[in-house]
Amino acid sequence: MTNKFCVANWKMNFNGHQGQEFVSQLNSKDLNKGQSQIILCPSFTSLFSIVDASKTSSIAVGAQNIHFEDSGAYTGEISANMLNETGVEYVILGHSERRHVFGEEDDQIHAKMVQSIKNGLTPILCIGEKLSERESRDTNQVLRTQLEAGLANVSGEYMLAYEPVWAIGTGKSATSEMVAETHASIRNILADLNVSDTVSLLYGGSVSPQNASELAAVKNVDGFLIGGASLDVEKFYKIYLDL
Ligand code: PGA
Repeated sequence: MTNKFCVANWKMNFNGHQGQEFVSQLNSKDLNKGQSQIILCPSFTSLFSIVDASKTSSIAVGAQNIHFEDSGAYTGEISANMLNETGVEYVILGHSERRHVFGEEDDQIHAKMVQSIKNGLTPILCIGEKLSERESRDTNQVLRTQLEAGLANVSGEYMLAYEPVWAIGTGKSATSEMVAETHASIRNILADLNVSDTVSLLYGGSVSPQNASELAAVKNVDGFLIGGASLDVEKFYKIYLDL
């Protein structure tokens, strides 16, 4: 089993047909050539069709969010049970857009971690600092707070994605030196928190065909969470091959 992951975060892009078209183009390529597990994360409305389109291939599917309660008066939300019905295996949690555009707090994200794992879904917990926090040298503290809160008393399978907020969707990826340093710090924080050192740690933030091989070579990089470049099958496949 690989512990490397090439994750596409399609965000609010692609309807079901566009997603299916992407999967059929990706499936026409050699998916035994790379070394990572591909996970596509479409919007909620496309989950059934993307799971269906992927089921004869090695492609896995994840959701982009979940609600932390089992059911109830939460208009517009999606429960673990609903996600399970679609056949997804993964769920992205605490993405920077959820935190900073939709105001999700660490305690909600933690509740979503617990709910996902309890329901057999593997969360991809995103953490990352804003530019002002990096500039004021608070990166490690921010990451520690997010990890402490997100992982409190969490046991089960999950993975982490380090995504500096300032690198997401900006075309300005973190440098390989920054990623090496920050991923090493994250491993130290995890050791402090007594978290297993086998957890996969992805990098995300303007990953592209141009920088993927350099970033993939960085120690402690176990894969990528890819936004913009995951909407182009050629770019995404090239990144997959580079991992
Ligand atoms: P990006 O997005 O690759 O477009 O920077 C990454 C993400 O938001 O997960």
